[in-house]
Amino acid sequence: MDIGFIGLGNMGQPMARRLIEAGHKLVIYDTRNDAVAPLLALGAQIASSPADVADRVETVMASLPEPSIVTKVATGAGGVIEGKRIKRFIDLSTTGSQVAAEIAAALAKKNIVQIDSPVSGGVSGAVKGTLAVMVSGPQADIDIVKDALGVFGKVFVIGNQAGMAQTMKLANNFLSATALSATSEAVVMGVKAGLDPAVMIDVINAGSGRNTASTDKFPKAILPRSFDLGFATALMLKDVRLCLQEAKALGVPNEVMSAVAANWEAVNAENGGDSDFSTVIQPLERRAGVTFAATGKKS
Ligand code: NAD
Repeated sequence: MDIGFIGLGNMGQPMARRLIEAGHKLVIYDTRNDAVAPLLALGAQIASSPADVADRVETVMASLPEPSIVTKVATGAGGVIEGKRIKRFIDLSTTGSQVAAEIAAALAKKNIVQIDSPVSGGVSGAVKGTLAVMVSGPQADIDIVKDALGVFGKVFVIGNQAGMAQTMKLANNFLSATALSATSEAVVMGVKAGLDPAVMIDVINAGSGRNTASTDKFPKAILPRSFDLGFATALMLKDVRLCLQEAKALGVPNEVMSAVAANWEAVNAENGGDSDFSTVIQPLERRAGVTFAATGKKS
């Protein structure tokens, strides 16, 4: 099908590439020229603005960093809301349920359907097409785009109300952020006591402490100290903040979330928002006064 794609960063780039490889025709837009160039080489057409994308196709996808940017691209001046052909806007970004509902309401006034479709599984999952794709919105429109979304990974229809898939995504990323924070604390404690971090991760992965940080992120980027998973600390912090806001708005307990959020606020302040989120261990090492040499092989 003809698909517009806005935001060709760490996630958008490989997702757009997979759509082209699956035979879809893409009209693309990003504020960075270097982001569009590789896809132009694969046959995508370039648009001059989000509105221009939405003038040319019925289905527009977006993978953008922050909720404020998604709101601007969707509903601001020159946004997809001004497009003449667009029928549905699929937001692959993580924005939280409140922003998703606000955008859905604004677009509905122009008879444009919003489908929330946040994803999980990182850059490697986007490259391989093994993401978890969480979808909410009107069923008839979900049916139209389900095959295209299937190019990214496994599609889960969470519900038909705007924002439901965003709540699912925030719950998932809270657990991912917690695993990374907690595993980092455990490893720094062990290293200070003289344990080998690679042995620790092997034991944890054979035992009951196994989690996504120990099985995936430590072996790939923390033990080898390459710190290159492709997800910015600022974006992880954004997700944890959104999750905490959502929990507070719902009036549910959030003590663990609050502690994890404080940890990510510190990582963001100390390492900078552009740092890779795998650098989460570094502030803990600085406080503990220990570190370890690169170890293990990068898989
Ligand atoms: P990114 O910063 O690498 O990419 C965002 C892209 O949007 C960039 O190419 C940027 O130039 C472009 N952009 C910014 N403002 C724009 C505008 N006004 N108009 C058009 N393009 C614009 O971010 P990412 O890591 O690819 O993440 C994208 C979204 O996916 C975020 O919401 C993030 O939370 C979510 N996400 C990321 C990962 C990951 O591992 N990186 C995993 C799951 C979900």
